Amino acid sequence: MTDPLPPGSTVGILGGGQLGRMLAMAAARLGLKTHIFEPGPAPAADVAHRWTQAPYDDDAALDAFAADCDVITFEFENIPAKALDRLAGAKPIFPRPNALEVSQDRLTEKRFLMEQGLSTAPFAPIDGPVDLPEALAATGLPAILKTRRFGYDGKGQARVTDMDGAGAALAELNGAPAIAEGVVPFLSEISVIAARGQDGQVAVYDPGENVHVGGILFTTTVPAALPARRRTDAVLIASRILTALDYVGVMGVELFVTPTALIVNEIAPRVHNSGHWTQAGCAVDQFEQHIRAVAGWPLGDGTRYADVVMENLIGDDVARALTAAADPHIQVHLYGKAEARPGRKMGHLNRITGPAP
Ligand code: AMP
Repeated sequence: MTDPLPPGSTVGILGGGQLGRMLAMAAARLGLKTHIFEPGPAPAADVAHRWTQAPYDDDAALDAFAADCDVITFEFENIPAKALDRLAGAKPIFPRPNALEVSQDRLTEKRFLMEQGLSTAPFAPIDGPVDLPEALAATGLPAILKTRRFGYDGKGQARVTDMDGAGAALAELNGAPAIAEGVVPFLSEISVIAARGQDGQVAVYDPGENVHVGGILFTTTVPAALPARRRTDAVLIASRILTALDYVGVMGVELFVTPTALIVNEIAPRVHNSGHWTQAGCAVDQFEQHIRAVAGWPLGDGTRYADVVMENLIGDDVARALTAAADPHIQVHLYGKAEARPGRKMGHLNRITGPAP
């Protein structure tokens, strides 16, 4: 464990999107500086102290970035391993890279979850068309083919109902290593946002219920419609995952709720879109919680004080922001992105629907 970072220290953030932006704002509230590393456009850089705009294979830029930071974290999972290794040789990185190794590859992730005794969808690896019959026999049909790496927001996925369709769908993945997953007949999708400090302390937020449209998160509602026992189980599952990884920081754990089980869909070793409700529902939101964890500060406790519905503003939805701002129960967040392209997350609304009981 490192000593708590004093105010004025610098937290490096790999990735400059909206998650990095909200992390930078939370860090600033705690008197910490942030340095964004982002090759492309960086909404986070608008609110950070410094921005390195360089590719992840620019060793000189990585070294200069590391030299300026006291600790390094990240806002997305697909950081090239070489860059991560180089940075890890220079400064502490939290969450530790082992969490990325697990979450970057769906097969490794599923195997890790099984080792923890947790339920997953039935799955099987697919390295080429010859593997399809055996894989689909293991998962059953319908199934979902997913690339093992670099999938997000439902990208790199295809639902298949028969062997011919599966062959065609696999061809669409252009030979990328894949897995097949059995389709889980879920009642609902929930996620748990959990944090672990450098001292091993764990703080978990209430599960939120998620609705996706076109593979992209549309709304998160807290409390999730779940019996109390299930809520506790979801929290315990998240705690188990964090502890097994000796994790430091905030993680999003996505689960399917079926009549008989909670099934882990995937883990995201970072702050998560389905945790944005904490900005209006909790004293310490997920962004501050993450900064506290990586900076070695004590965690907030995660108690929820309000019922909240978080709604993403995607593409042209952003036009609704001003009307929403006139509603006294709505907190408006815009990410400062210039162009409202379809499918692009432009902001979100947190609607407070009541005090927590
Ligand atoms: P993912 O990228 O794995 O989170 O998948 C995106 C969305 O696709 C999930 O939030 C679910 O709505 C759906 N989905 C993914 N995997 C499964 C599955 N095995 N069974 C049913 N629905 C799934």
